Amino acid sequence: MFKTMIIRIGKANDNDYVVTDPYVSRHHARLTRDTNSYLLLEDLDSANGTYVNGSQIVRKRITPTDTVKLGNSFVLSISEVLKSGNDYSEEFAALKEVYDKYIEQKIKIQSSNQFKTRLFQALPFALPGVIGVTVGFMGKGSSAFLGISLLIAICAPAAGIYLGARQSAKIPRQLQDLADQFKIDYVCPKCGTFLGEIPWESLINKKHCPVTSCKAKWVNE
Ligand SMILES: [Zn+2]
Repeated sequence: MFKTMIIRIGKANDNDYVVTDPYVSRHHARLTRDTNSYLLLEDLDSANGTYVNGSQIVRKRITPTDTVKLGNSFVLSISEVLKSGNDYSEEFAALKEVYDKYIEQKIKIQSSNQFKTRLFQALPFALPGVIGVTVGFMGKGSSAFLGISLLIAICAPAAGIYLGARQSAKIPRQLQDLADQFKIDYVCPKCGTFLGEIPWESLINKKHCPVTSCKAKWVNE
């Protein structure tokens, strides 16, 4: 079962199928496909007329194999026109999940890295205390133990800061990988243009692809 589809044809840019020909009117014709996939071609009072298999028509049911001419010379390929009117609403609807998952992953990476970074930085400061308690517990601290605990007290925070910094340096890399994949997945289903980091809910208000040569319908109306 097909959805009803209306394709407006003419020279003006607001048509679904734009034709650049001196004998084609700005709003020349309209092709309608009904739910039974029948095709109806209508002339929109064009200056030079619409022809099907050589005869001028006002309104005529056609098939993709008919020869359609707009004006004096422009031959219209119906199969190409049908492709231009393609309805991408189902493919576009699937992008909502792509966007939601991207945001979810992004937050996950950011918060998990923040936690690890803090952990690495905080842990070493706790160590000397633990060692001090252990040494104290063993009664008289031998000078060897004292030396080791001093060494740890000095080195551990440095190591912790180093590990913490290394961990936080991973964030841009992971986020970059995620963003790279997002640029491949979050694209117009027809022309493949990246839609930007714009919420899906905002994009659906545009209703069709803003790329002039694409104009894929994102919403079936
Ligand atoms: Zn597009």
